[in-house]
Amino acid sequence: MHSFAYRQNELFCEQTSVRKLAATHGTPLYVYSQETVARRFQDLEAALQPLDHRICYAVKANSNLAVLRVLVRLGGGFDIVSEGELRRVMAAGGDPARCVFAGVGKTEREIELALRSGVYCFNAESEAELERINRVAARLRQIAPVAVRINPNVDAHTHPKITTGTYENKFGIALEQVERVYARGARLKNLRWRGAQTHLGSQLTEVEPFELAVKKLLPLVRKLTERYGLEFFNIGGGLGIVYQPALASGAAPWWSSPAARGLLTPANYAARLKPLLAATGLKILLEPGRFIVGNAGLLVTRVEYVKQTGRKTFVIVDAGMNDLIRPAMYDAWHEIVPVTRRRGPRVSSDVVGPVCESGDYFCKDRPLPKVREGDYLALLSAGAYGFVMASNYNTRPLAAEVLVHGTRSAVVRPRQRLEEIWAAEKIPAWLR
Ligand SMILES: *Cc1c(COP(=O)(O)O)cnc(C)c1O
Repeated sequence: MHSFAYRQNELFCEQTSVRKLAATHGTPLYVYSQETVARRFQDLEAALQPLDHRICYAVKANSNLAVLRVLVRLGGGFDIVSEGELRRVMAAGGDPARCVFAGVGKTEREIELALRSGVYCFNAESEAELERINRVAARLRQIAPVAVRINPNVDAHTHPKITTGTYENKFGIALEQVERVYARGARLKNLRWRGAQTHLGSQLTEVEPFELAVKKLLPLVRKLTERYGLEFFNIGGGLGIVYQPALASGAAPWWSSPAARGLLTPANYAARLKPLLAATGLKILLEPGRFIVGNAGLLVTRVEYVKQTGRKTFVIVDAGMNDLIRPAMYDAWHEIVPVTRRRGPRVSSDVVGPVCESGDYFCKDRPLPKVREGDYLALLSAGAYGFVMASNYNTRPLAAEVLVHGTRSAVVRPRQRLEEIWAAEKIPAWLR
């Protein structure tokens, strides 16, 4: 379920006109639906009942303070990967005691802040990291709660750049080494084994790999629980969303449509995993990012030029790969729709940005309604890994972000001013 739909011929986010938002705040503009974020969280919550669980939203997917605050209000936990993300969660009113700290490169400084803040658990990715956490904890006279990120060596059938759970990836500790690592960790005086974690990758569209990984890890998790008194098993994130087509035809959630049969939905994900997980008697943690926010956002852009070359129609828009890098980086497909619908034939079009790179495109040879200069287009399902991956490449300012709640809307991050981009830069004395 998401809250973007046409009314007559105008695209709305909840009860708010996207065209009016674009006209008021300019483009490129990220627009998020609060209702969609909340519904996604609550749908997953409901599907997981009555399992003892906690959803730790993966902050990296969309870390705007307003989005985080929506999830704080719903009682969510957070999966963080840096000092910056921990500070953001705290700035949004989140409780560090509901945070799990992941990542292969945690620095001493980050570990110290996490310990002082009282994070729920570290997901450790190497023995060297465990030793480092132990050392910092000893210095602070604390006992650090830790879990190992277990690499289950299961193929997630997703894009190579977002597969994490095979031995080809830098993530986690290989299944075969895990028992030895727990035994070793148990001898480190300032560590306490609190749980076990795994994560397969991102944008998984089948339940199968999750089921395989859980089945593969369960005997080990049971053994570790008996030996070390674990409290939780964290099965990571990676729940995929539907990018195509993104606009629901009615009020029904996409996963109730025939097209979604066989795909991952909260219901079939939960139905197949719950019996396995309940048998552990452990608290189950999940780290969904994209699933919560992916369909909850769109990127509005303005058509600057329509350029016909011999063979092709290029629609040149004012958003670029610096605003949304997913097509260039992951070959991602985003549905592109006109903000105001008009009748007329479709034209095979390449929608491209202004950045000086051939990779700066949003689609190629796609039949799209004919557009002209000044029209607004919306790139759908841009709520996850959109703004958070934006850069200042080509000295382009970061886009503005708006959160919609019914008929209300608020700028939750203003467009960056150009001078801010180079404000911190300095010309050295010898060049003055
Ligand atoms: C990126 C990541 C997530 C979230 O992934 P999604 O595909 O957005 O659900 C969760 N856990 C870990 C360890 C991650 O690296």
